[in-house]
Amino acid sequence: MSGSAWDRSLREQLETWDREDRLRKLQATEGAQVPVVQRGGKRLLNCSSNNYLGLADHPRIKEAARQSCLSGNGSTASRLIVGHDSRIEALEAKVAAWKGTESALLLGSGYMANIGVLSALLQRGDAVFSDRYNHASIIDGIRLSRAESYRYRHRDMDHLESGLKKSLRKNHRRRMIVTDTVFSMDGDTAPMRELVRLKERYGAALIVDEAHGTGVYGHRGEGYAADAGVAEQVDLHVGTFSKAFGAYGAYVAGRRDWIRYLVNACRPFIYTTALPPTVVGAVDAALDIVSRSDDRRRALKAKGDRFRRELRRMGLDTADSTTPIIPVITGDNTRTLAFSRALEDQGVLAVAIRPPTVPEGTGRLRFSLMANHRDEDLEQALSVIEQTAEETGVKPNGQ
Ligand code: PMP
Repeated sequence: MSGSAWDRSLREQLETWDREDRLRKLQATEGAQVPVVQRGGKRLLNCSSNNYLGLADHPRIKEAARQSCLSGNGSTASRLIVGHDSRIEALEAKVAAWKGTESALLLGSGYMANIGVLSALLQRGDAVFSDRYNHASIIDGIRLSRAESYRYRHRDMDHLESGLKKSLRKNHRRRMIVTDTVFSMDGDTAPMRELVRLKERYGAALIVDEAHGTGVYGHRGEGYAADAGVAEQVDLHVGTFSKAFGAYGAYVAGRRDWIRYLVNACRPFIYTTALPPTVVGAVDAALDIVSRSDDRRRALKAKGDRFRRELRRMGLDTADSTTPIIPVITGDNTRTLAFSRALEDQGVLAVAIRPPTVPEGTGRLRFSLMANHRDEDLEQALSVIEQTAEETGVKPNGQ
């Protein structure tokens, strides 16, 4: 019976994952929009959200969302049918002005944006160069395309260049480099100037994923490429409204023809229902706030820098983080889980990140800070981390 064969093999797979401490389980968390959350009846300091600027519960944004749905709740159809209205149109113009690009397009989520953009642009005969630590949605977008894929070592520009040279010899029709600007699991950043140099030298397009740069970097929060002074050399900027904006949805911003092409070819744009009015209203209000949030960005940076410095002083491995995303590398899955659980017992929520999200043997806890984390709460978390790391064997002895 095919049903029982399926049941048996799924169960075997689940048991294997469980044995290897890589079985994922859902856990309800209440109040993820604020720095202190509730889990299993316990109050925990939330070090696991991407709500970098603390805007997910901002009263003006919530009110804008409420007002936006008064005339109706669903968007009822895809954009090319009747799901496109003047509010979305105005927001896209506003996003383009904020990003400093000719044009912009809203999409359902960052995941949809990446799979859609890459699978639409890349064709058979093209070559695509992707940092090995790029987000899963970039990897999936490339898989959906027919392009030849080169994964270069993380931030290794020599490795990238050797791939580009190979591609010239192989006469690929076009070349594309795609990278996260801020890497989600390591908290380090892409070498933007070198990427632009290579893009220009080899006539490649450069596409960046600003999921964790949007709102956090740039004078108006327009992203890390702007902060690095190379926004204009980037062909297409992808970003999400689900993190620093505290809302949902995503944008793609670039030259007019690129956006017109995507309207015609990007399947997760064409074949899905438009964002609902609540989200459009929330993103619109959040954009006004994000673009004037230098104080929040400064606070976030100061808290991140101090937190990282303290973790390093304890001898913990925080990889090459320079952003508000700060990993503590723990290694194997069992130790990673033990560290995370022990911290949770002590009131600190930092979720365990294990393979396949990160490479084998590089399990970690990922701390992500918020501009409105209270300094005293972070200090308390640091002392809990120091003690717990020692107890769970994360901290090398004698350091
Ligand atoms: N890119 C990166 C680098 C991300 O970290 C994420 C979210 N985890 C996404 C894209 C997907 O964005 P969204 O959550 O809006 O789908």
